[in-house]
Amino acid sequence: MMHTLFAAEALLPEGWARHVLLNWDETGRLTRVEPDSLPSSDVPRAAGPLLPGMPNLHSHAFQRGFAGLTEFRSTRADSFWSWRELMYRFALRMTPEALEAIATQLYIEMLAAGYTTVCEFHYVHHQEDGQPYADATEMMQALMRAAKATGIGMTLLPVLYQTGGFGGKPAQADQRRFLSGTDAMLRLIDRLAQQCKAAPELNARLGLAPHSLRAVPPEALRDAVAGLHALDATAPVHIHVAEQQREVEDCIAWSGQRPIAWLLDHMPVDQRWCVIHATHMVEAETLGLARSGATAGICPTTEGNLGDGFFDAERYLDAGGSWGIGSDSNASLSVTEELRLFEYGQRLLLQRRNVLASHARPQVSERMYLEAVAGGARASARAVGGLVVGQQADFVVLDGASAGLAGLPAAQALGAHIFSQRGAPDIAGVWTAGKQRIDAGRHDLAERSRNAFIAARRQLLA
Ligand SMILES: [Zn+2]
Repeated sequence: MMHTLFAAEALLPEGWARHVLLNWDETGRLTRVEPDSLPSSDVPRAAGPLLPGMPNLHSHAFQRGFAGLTEFRSTRADSFWSWRELMYRFALRMTPEALEAIATQLYIEMLAAGYTTVCEFHYVHHQEDGQPYADATEMMQALMRAAKATGIGMTLLPVLYQTGGFGGKPAQADQRRFLSGTDAMLRLIDRLAQQCKAAPELNARLGLAPHSLRAVPPEALRDAVAGLHALDATAPVHIHVAEQQREVEDCIAWSGQRPIAWLLDHMPVDQRWCVIHATHMVEAETLGLARSGATAGICPTTEGNLGDGFFDAERYLDAGGSWGIGSDSNASLSVTEELRLFEYGQRLLLQRRNVLASHARPQVSERMYLEAVAGGARASARAVGGLVVGQQADFVVLDGASAGLAGLPAAQALGAHIFSQRGAPDIAGVWTAGKQRIDAGRHDLAERSRNAFIAARRQLLA
C-alpha cells in the first residue's frame, strides 16, 4: 500500500496551496506536506480539492436511534425540556448491542459526511434498573467497537452526572442510568485507559465530561477535573453550559452568576476545556471565554432543532476564540450543514452577509472550515489539526468532476460545497489515519451496518 497522495489544490492551515504532495507513515501520521511538488506519475492523484478531515467535537451516539422522531407537537410550549423527556424514555431502553449497531451506522454516516474524529459525550452507563453492569465500561466498549470497526478516530468522554438540578437537587428516577460517584468515575477512566492501551489500533483518546453545572455540584466538579488531570495532564474536559435560558435563570438563582461567568470564576478553564453550546452569554462572558483558551462547541443543527438560541459568534471569533462543530443529537449528519447554519443564523440575526468572514480571510467558508478544524483538534486532544507534518493523515477529497464543483478554483469550490449543496455531498473519498474509509460515498460495512441499525431501532421503538 502506498502512503502518498498528490492534490492539485489542498487547504493547508495558512490557506490554499497548489500541487501538494502528502506522505504518511505506517501509523498514519503525515511525514511530508509539500506544495509546488512534481511527483512521479505513479503517485495517486486526488480527484478534486483536498480538505483536512473535520473533527466532530460533540456527539451522543445513542440519540441517532430516534433522530427525526420528535418532530410533532405535544404541547404549545414544546421545548428542549419536553424533548428531553422523550430522549430519556429512549435512553432507558438502550442495550449495549443496540448501542453498538446505532453507533456503527452513525460513525459510517459521519465519515461519509467528512467527519474524521468523533468526541463521544456518553452518559448511559448502567443497566435499565440503574444497577452498574458487571464491567462498568460495558456501554463504552460498544462505542469503542463501533469506532474501531468503522475507522473513525475517537475521543471518549464518559459523563459525570450526579444531581437533577442546581444546588444538589436529587436526580430523577429517569436519570438512574447516568449516575456515578466521583471516585467511581475516576476508576472507570483508569480502566478505560488500560483498555485503550491494549488496543492501539482503536486510535482513541480519553477525557471526562462533567455533564453540566446542574448535574455536577462544584466540589465534585473540582475533584473530578483534578483527578482526571492527575491521571493525564492533557486530557480534555467537556461540559454543556448555557444552552437554555431556563438553565441561565436557575444558575443565577443558585449562585447569583450566569453559567459561563460562574465557570470562568470557579474552575481552571483553559485550553483543555470544551464548553458545549455557550449559547447564552453577555459580552463579558463571550470575551472571557475567548481569552480562556477553551473551545466553544457549536452544534448548529441541534441548537436549531431544540430551539436553543444564537451563539455570540462575531464577537467571539473576532476576539480569537477557539471553536468547532458538533453533531450533538445527530438529528443531522453534515459538516456543510453545520457550518452553513452557523453562518446563516448570524445573517438572519444581524441582517448582513458573510458575517463570519474576516479581513485576513474574506472567504467565509475558508475561515469557518479552518477554524473549526483547529478548534475540533484542540477539543479532541488529538493530532488532527490539519494538513501538517506530525498530524494524522485525516483528509477529505472533494469530487472535482461534480456539477457543483467542476471548473471552479478550490477557494470557490469550498464555498460552493458549503453554501450550494444539492443532494449528496460532493465528496469523492475520506481517509483517517492514512487509510481510505469512504470511496465514492460508500463504506465497506455500509450494508451490514444499515441492516443491524434498522433491526436495533425497530426493537427499541417496539
Ligand atoms: Zn449534548
